[in-house]
Amino acid sequence: MQQALRQVAKAAAQDEVPVGAVVVLDNEIIGQGWNQPILANDPTAHAEIIALRDAASKMANYRLPSATLYVSNEPCSMCAGAIIYARMEQRLPKLFSVSLIVLRRQ
Ligand SMILES: [Zn+2]
Repeated sequence: MQQALRQVAKAAAQDEVPVGAVVVLDNEIIGQGWNQPILANDPTAHAEIIALRDAASKMANYRLPSATLYVSNEPCSMCAGAIIYARMEQRLPKLFSVSLIVLRRQ
């Protein structure tokens, strides 16, 4: 959780919407990201997407069924879709109550 908040600080320092995300598997961070659509000129560069890409690259697998995403804000519809496509959880209600932890609202 502390690492996710550090990602939030990175976004805030760049005048981005302050959102941070971390993907954890077996108590190890396998992906992290902070919101950077302005900096990257990329409308998809949300913290969750960047963290998922980082984790998938490290795992050499686009599916992350046993991983947990820690994110500072509730995901937008694009990120929620990416989380589902990553197979982080098959059931959306459980995704938001168990695998996805909202640390705080901005
Ligand atoms: Zn998003």
